Amino acid sequence: MINCPKIKDIRNKKILVRVDFNVPLKLVAGKAGNKNAVWRVADSDRISSALETINFLIDHKAKVVLISHLGRAEGKKNHDLSLLPVAKFLKNNLDLPVEFVDDCVGLKVAEKSKKLVSGQALLLENLRFYPGEEVNDLNFTKQLIKDSGAEIFINEAFSASHRAHASVVGLAKRLPSYAGFNLKREVEHFNKALENIKRPLILVMGGAKISDKVATMQNLSRLADVVLVGGGIANAMLRAGGIETHRSFIGANEEKEPDEVKKIMNMAKEILVEHATERVLFEELGKDRKNLPLPKIVLPIDVLAAKNAKATKTEKITLLSDVADTDNDRDIKYLDIGPETIRLYRYILKEAKTIVWNGPMGVFENPNFARGSREIARAIARATQKGAISLVGGGESNSVINRTGLHEQFTHISTAGGAALEFLSGKELPGVKELKK
Ligand code: AMP
Repeated sequence: MINCPKIKDIRNKKILVRVDFNVPLKLVAGKAGNKNAVWRVADSDRISSALETINFLIDHKAKVVLISHLGRAEGKKNHDLSLLPVAKFLKNNLDLPVEFVDDCVGLKVAEKSKKLVSGQALLLENLRFYPGEEVNDLNFTKQLIKDSGAEIFINEAFSASHRAHASVVGLAKRLPSYAGFNLKREVEHFNKALENIKRPLILVMGGAKISDKVATMQNLSRLADVVLVGGGIANAMLRAGGIETHRSFIGANEEKEPDEVKKIMNMAKEILVEHATERVLFEELGKDRKNLPLPKIVLPIDVLAAKNAKATKTEKITLLSDVADTDNDRDIKYLDIGPETIRLYRYILKEAKTIVWNGPMGVFENPNFARGSREIARAIARATQKGAISLVGGGESNSVINRTGLHEQFTHISTAGGAALEFLSGKELPGVKELKK
C-alpha cells in the first residue's frame, strides 16, 4: 500500500516534492549552447500530471519545494537544461505562486526556503547539475534535506521512479514519505491490469531504439500473446531476421558506432530466436483467414521509405519476398509501417483484450510518416471501446494520441515511458518500493 498525504499531514509543513518536469523545450531566442538562449516549454503534459498534488499542497497551506531533473545534464551545469522556463510556465500560464531558485542545494536554497511562507512554492534548479543525484549519493541527499529544511517528502514523479536516484530513493529513505496523487493512480492502473490479465494481451512496440527498451521488451514479450513491432525497433528486427533495410535507422550509426550496431543486432536476434517457434492462432482474421497461425513477434510486411525523414516523396516497399539482406544497398530509409502492415495490425488488434503500447510506428513528426502511428492509435481506441484494456506508456506515443484527439478513448495513458514498461514487465520500481516501506 502506498499513501497520499492528508490535509493534517501537510499544513504549514515544508515539503520536498519530486516531480518530473523533464519536458520538451523550444528555443525561442538566441543560440543553443549560449547564455543568451531563451527556451520555452513546448509540451506541458508532464507538468499537468503533477498539478493535482501541487494545488492540493498550496491550497492547504504547505510550504512547497519542487525538485526535478531535465534532460541529461550528467553532473554539470548547463544553461540549455535549466528549469527556469518551467518556472515561468508555472507562474505565467498556470498562475501558481512559484519562485525559481537557480540552484538545488547551497546557501541560496537555504535562504529562500527559510523565508518560504505557507501556500507558496519554490522550484529548484535541475537536480542533475550535481553528480550526486544519479549515483544516489548520501551526502547529496542530506544536503537536499538540510538546505531545503524539508520535513516531508512526496514522490510525484512516477516516470522517474525506475531510477534509484537521490531525489527518488534517497529522500524517501530519510524523510516521512507519501505518494503524489498521480503516482498512486499510475500504480493502481497498472496493478489492476496485471492482477488479472485479460488475454489476448497484445504488445505494440515502436520508437527509435531497441537498446533503450530491450530488457523490458524481453520481459513483456514473454508476458504478451502477440508483439506487433514498428519504428526503428522494427528496422533492427527486420535486419536481424535477414531482411534488407538499406540505410534505415536501426538504433545506432553504422559507420560511427559499429560495435553498438553489433550489440543491437544481437539483442534483436535474441528476442526473435526466443520466440521463433511460438505460433498464435487468431480466430477472426477475416472470413477466409480463420485460425491462421501467426508468429508471436509480428514484423512489418511493408514499409514507407524515403531518402530521409524530412522527405516529401515516399516509396512503398513490400517486404514479403526477395528482400533478403543483399549488397544492393540503396540510399533509402524505412520511416513508417506500410498500408498492408496497418491492415494486418488492425486485424490483430481487433481481437485484443489487453493492449500495451509504447513508441510510435514511424517518424510521425513528418505527416508523410505519421499514418502508421495514427492508425494504430485509432485501432487501439476502437478495441478499447469494445471492452479491451489499453495502457499507453511513453512520451512519444502520448504525442501521437494528442495529435489524433483520441485522448479520452484509452483506459490509461501514462506519463511514463521506461518506468511504465518496467512496471508492466514485473519489476518493482525502486521509487515506488521505497514509498511502501
Ligand atoms: P522513443 O522515444 O524510443 O519511443 O522514440 C520515438 C522516436 O522514434 C520518434 O521521434 C520517431 O521519429 C522515431 N522513429 C520512429 N520510427 C522510426 C524509424 N522508422 N526510423 C527512425 N526513427 C523512427
